[in-house]
Amino acid sequence: MKDHITPHSYQISNQDRNEAYKHNSFLLWFTGLSGSGKSTIANVVEQELFKIGIKTYTLDGDNIRKGINNDLTFSPEDRTENIRRIAEVANLMIDAGLVVLAAFVSPYKKDRQNIRTIVKDVNFVEVFINTSVEECERRDVKGLYKKARAGEIKNMTGISAPYEAPENPDIEIKTEVETVEDAVKRIVDYITPKLSRQL
Ligand code: ADP
Repeated sequence: MKDHITPHSYQISNQDRNEAYKHNSFLLWFTGLSGSGKSTIANVVEQELFKIGIKTYTLDGDNIRKGINNDLTFSPEDRTENIRRIAEVANLMIDAGLVVLAAFVSPYKKDRQNIRTIVKDVNFVEVFINTSVEECERRDVKGLYKKARAGEIKNMTGISAPYEAPENPDIEIKTEVETVEDAVKRIVDYITPKLSRQL
């Protein structure tokens, strides 16, 4: 089937969209344990970007796991497929001219490497929200750690499933010593040069 697909040559390119929107498009990928602060920080970063006229969209567990990926579990294979589909969706959004923010645990290095391959290295900014499992468990925002300790949730990252920390993230945020505001400022400062068209 694949062999019979011939791409149509559309006249509006990614570059045309970037010119029209007056900024580059790329993916800001937040990885870290559940409760580490990914969505909290991504949400504020998006508001800051939106305020200055950047076209953005945030992908997270709520809009992905309930929709396009509602057939997937938390088994290692399904986690890999979850991330692959998200990367493909993000890739379309980058092509559409958006700055995409994505907040997913994404515990496997090979999966994060696959995102980089799908969206291309130059479009991938890896933000490691580095919060200890002890602190995440203390926060227990969604009550998941309690359920995991009680054996009600299997495959809980940090408890009964591994988290492979990024070795060389573009940005590392230690939420136990850095406020949300400081983290957001650091991220916005990092991506500001990437937004401008010349780079
Ligand atoms: P995740 O999206 O990684 O699962 P959330 O953003 O939903 O995590 O939850 C993180 C929790 O930690 C929130 O309740 C947030 O208010 C709290 N928190 C405390 N300090 C920080 C910080 N410096 N950065 C981000 N979140 C923090």
